Parts: sequence; structure tokens; C-alpha cells
Amino acid sequence: MHVPFVDLTAQYQELAGEVHEAIVSVLERGDFILGRSLGYFEAEFAAYCEARFAVGVSSGTAALELILRGLNVGPGDEVITPAHTFIATALAITTTGARPVFVDINPQTYNIDVDQVEAAITSRTRAIIPVHLYGQPADMDSILAIARRHGLAVVEDACQAHGARYKGRRVGALGAAAAFSFYPSKNLGAYGDGGMVVTNDEQLAQAARMLRNYGQPQKYVHQIKGYNYRLDTLQAAVLRVKLRCLDSWLSARRKHAARYCEFLADLPTTLPWEPGFAHSVYHLFVIRVDQRNELMSHLSAKGIDTGIHYPIPIHLQPAFGELGYSTGSFPVTETLVGQILSLPMYPELSDDAIGYVVESIREFYL
Ligand SMILES: *Cc1c(COP(=O)(O)O)cnc(C)c1O
Repeated sequence: MHVPFVDLTAQYQELAGEVHEAIVSVLERGDFILGRSLGYFEAEFAAYCEARFAVGVSSGTAALELILRGLNVGPGDEVITPAHTFIATALAITTTGARPVFVDINPQTYNIDVDQVEAAITSRTRAIIPVHLYGQPADMDSILAIARRHGLAVVEDACQAHGARYKGRRVGALGAAAAFSFYPSKNLGAYGDGGMVVTNDEQLAQAARMLRNYGQPQKYVHQIKGYNYRLDTLQAAVLRVKLRCLDSWLSARRKHAARYCEFLADLPTTLPWEPGFAHSVYHLFVIRVDQRNELMSHLSAKGIDTGIHYPIPIHLQPAFGELGYSTGSFPVTETLVGQILSLPMYPELSDDAIGYVVESIREFYL
């Protein structure tokens, strides 16, 4: 049996008719840039996130960058974010000219350790970017309280967490703004790159709209130096079709996660932990084990694809050497990256496949 890590064609097979129709309608209208389907999708995605505004952009990284620019974060400023996240969170900060300041993670949730945030704040700090890693919301109220005390903006990196809930509310409008990614393997994936800025702040939404489109509030008037960071109408048309299925896909992910947890409970693995405030959408199902590399090879030999998200922490990446961090800077993150293993997870994953993965893990421990 072969169990892939993700299956990006299953959703296409399920929706082929509707997707074809959506694509053809854009081809026939010819409104490829900032077209009608983009406007519709933005309104629908904002509503989905229980937010007022959504601005389609070219990627999740671009969304983070435009939010920071919209908040006037730039050279000389510092932005706090967890050491354990995808590299793009930090790249969006450095692209604005600001400096990323990392904070270690909570060993149970793998999200930013709120008890260590305050110690990282300086007179140059402008914003905090909590990441809802693996689809699980960060401890937002604690982070928002710290930010209020110090006059900082909170920007959610929700690139892995479309539809996740924090104390019953969708992620996306819990802070100043949120960034989403539609990279194909994300919980809501395009047929290429895409992203979204979500916010309740009208001014920030306007800034993002202007910045994504060469900095022009109206044609040929360039108010500020902007970018070419728009979401294609074609991608928006496809994403509209897929958005209608998102909640049922998220339920399937949660069901698979519960199944994994039930069957793995008696094995020497640390399972994902959901705090009471969090309703995770399991973008990734990540376990923690001692002999991670050996287990990974064992599963690979059984035809099971797994992943490591992420093997090298950002503060130890060559690209971020100039920040002056070293081994030992963030011990929880550094230990975790040697133990984490992401198991196959996607809505169409079958019960048989989950059973096979679990039995193969059990065999490893016999
Ligand atoms: C995917 C991802 C991003 C970047 O999104 P892209 O669309 O690939 O630019 C940023 N942060 C996190 C946590 C991500 O998982």
C-alpha cells in the first residue's frame, strides 16, 4: 500500500465539472486581472473569516509583507514571531527592512510561548506575528493583552489555519489583520500561488489594495511605492468553488486526527494537544517521537510518505546568520525539530490508509 503525504488531485476529481465551468467563465470574460471573480471571492472569504475586508494577493508571504507595510513597519523596527514557523513568516519581516525577533515556543502547543513574549519587547518593537501553526490557533487573548499594554499591532499568520476557531471565533480578524496562503497544499489551495489579507480595519484594507497594485489608489496615480502582488482572477474563480467545500474538508481532517489519536494513544508518541480555546483544522498532523529518523525510514519502506515541518529552525538558517542567534538560543524549538514527524493528512485520506499508517508505527515499536 502507498500512502502519499497529500493528494492534490483528489479535490480536482471531486469538483472537476464546477472548476472547469469557473475557469471557462473567466476565459470568456477575459478579466484576468482584478476581475469579477476576485471581488466575489474576496467578499465570500471575508464573510467566511467573520471579518469585514479581504484583499486577494499573490501569496501568503505577500499578504504578511503588505500588512506590515500597511502598518508602516520598516527599517529600524522589530517584529516578534516564533522561532518555530515556516521561513516565510520571517522573510516577510526582513523584506520590509524590519528585524525579526524570535521567541521560543510552548512545548505543548508548538505555538509562540506567550510567557516569553514580553521579555523580547524593546523600544523598537512594532508588531507581534503569532503563527497558528499546523492549523491550531495561538493563545490570542494573552498575546493581544501584551500588545495592548505596549501599543503593538498583532498580525495573525493564518497561512495554515483557514477556518480554525479561537474561543469560537474564526481566525482572521482577531488582531489588526491576518495573512492566509492558498499555496496548493494548504487547507484551501489554489492551482498555483495565492494569498489573502483579512482585516476589520478599513484603512489597512485600503492600504493593502493600493500596495498590491503598484501603489495606485486610481489608475496612473502612484501614491506610494507598491508591488505587483495581485491574486489572479482565474485562481479566485477556482478558490470560490473550493471555498464552498472547505468546512466539510476541515471536518474530515478533524475526524482523521481523532482517529490517529485514538489508535496511537498506547504507543510511545506524543500526540497533538488542543487547548480548550482552540479548534484546530489540522493542516498538519504532527507527532513527537524519540527515534524520529528511524521511524521515518521505517514508514518510508512501508510506502508511507511523511514530512518534517520544519527540520532547521529559522534562527539557525544560514540566511538569518546576521541576526546573531546560535544553537541554544531557543531550546524548546531546537529539541522539537529533532522529534517531530508529520503523518499523511488530507481530507480524502481513507480509514484504511490511517489504519495502515498506525499499524506500521506499531510494528516499529514491537
Ligand atoms: C505557507 C506559509 C506561509 C507563506 O505562504 P506562501 O503562500 O507560500 O507565500 C507563511 N507562513 C506560514 C506559517 C505558512 O505555512
